[in-house]
Amino acid sequence: MIPLSEPSLGDAEERLVVEAVRSGYVSSVGPMVRSFEEELAAAVGAQHAVACASGTAALHLALLAVGVGQGRDVLVSDLTFIASANPARYCGAKVVLVDSEPETWNLDPTLVVAELERRDAAGEAQPAAVLAVHVLGHPAALEDLVVACERFDVMLVEDAAESLGARWDEGVLAGRQVGTVGSLGCFSFNGNKVMTAGNGGMVVTDDAALADRVRHLSTQARIPGSDYLHDDIGYNYRLSNVSAAVGLAQLRRLDELVGGRRAVAERYDAALAAVPGVSVPPKAAWASRSSWLYTILLRDRGARDAVRQELRDAGVEARPIWPALRGQQPYLGSAVLGGTVALDLADRGLSLPSSAHLPPGDQDVVVAAVLAAASP
Ligand SMILES: *Cc1c(COP(=O)(O)O)cnc(C)c1O
Repeated sequence: MIPLSEPSLGDAEERLVVEAVRSGYVSSVGPMVRSFEEELAAAVGAQHAVACASGTAALHLALLAVGVGQGRDVLVSDLTFIASANPARYCGAKVVLVDSEPETWNLDPTLVVAELERRDAAGEAQPAAVLAVHVLGHPAALEDLVVACERFDVMLVEDAAESLGARWDEGVLAGRQVGTVGSLGCFSFNGNKVMTAGNGGMVVTDDAALADRVRHLSTQARIPGSDYLHDDIGYNYRLSNVSAAVGLAQLRRLDELVGGRRAVAERYDAALAAVPGVSVPPKAAWASRSSWLYTILLRDRGARDAVRQELRDAGVEARPIWPALRGQQPYLGSAVLGGTVALDLADRGLSLPSSAHLPPGDQDVVVAAVLAAASP
C-alpha cells in the first residue's frame, strides 16, 4: 500500500534517542525537553513553549489556562478532527460549532464575528474562547477574528496541530506563523503529522503567565520547590525526554519535511487542477500552506467513494475527510452557526498520500487512479 502519511525517520532521530537513553533521562525531566521547547518557540516565533504528552493534552491545558470551564461556551470549527472539540468537553464547557468558509475550509470568521456581536447586543454571555483550527495544513483567515475577540474580551486559541510551518503572507498577520496569533497555540507531534515525536504536543504563547499556568497544570499542579504540595487539580501531561529527542531531531529537519509536502502538493496541483470533476485543495494567495494532507473534492459522495475504491484497487491508501462534528454522536446536540459548507466538504473530500518523501513514481500511480475514476 502507498500510505496516506508516513513519518520520515533517520540517523538524526536515532542519534538523539540514543543520546537521551545514554543520559539516563528517559522520563519527563531532561535536557531534550527543554531544548525541544526552546527550539520550537524560536522556529515559530513565540516567546514560550510547553511540551505536552499529546496535541489533545496541549489543547486541554490551553483551554484550562484561558479559563474555559463548566457552563461556558467554546466556539469550534465544525470540520475538523474530533480531538479539536473534545478538550472543551473535558473542561465541562459547551461546544458551539462554526461552519466552514469555502476559501480555506476553516471556520468562517464572519459567522464568529456576527455571533459575538449578536451576544453583545442581546446582553448574553460571551463564549469563554474561540478555538480556531487550521485544517489540513492551511491557515484560517484570522485577521477579523483577532479584532473581534479583543473587542469582546474572548480568548482566541489556535489548534495548529495539522499546520506547523504554515503562515500568513499578507495583511496585518503577514510573516506570522500559525499558532502565534491567538493567546495560545497548540501543535501535535503524532506519527502522521507534519513532524512527529512519536506522540506529543506543544503549547506556545507570548504570555509568560499563561505559559507558567500550562506548565503548572501539566505537572500535577505541584507547587514549585515543594515536595508533595499541590495547589490545584493538575494532570500528568508532560512529554518524555525520549519523545523530545525524536521531536528535536524532526524539528531541525522541519524545512525539509514541510518543503517535501509542499512539493508533493504542487505536483498534485499540476496534474489534477484541470481535471473535470476534481477540485484541488485551498491555496489562498495570502498564505503559505504546510500541505499536511492533500485533499481533493469530487463531484459528490458517490464520485468520492468511487475514486477511493479505484485507489484502493491500485494499492493506494486514501481517506475521506472527517465527517463534520455536528454529525458525530457526542456532538449531535451542539448548536451550529452557519450553513452546510462543512457538510458538503465532508461528503466530497478525499485525502491522498502526502508524505514528505512520497516517491514521484508512487505519486504517478495515485494520479493515474484518480484520473481513471474521475473521468472514465
Ligand atoms: C491530530 C490532531 C489533534 C490531536 O493531536 P494528538 O497529538 O493526536 O492528540 C488535535 N487537533 C487536530 C486538528 C488534529 O489533527
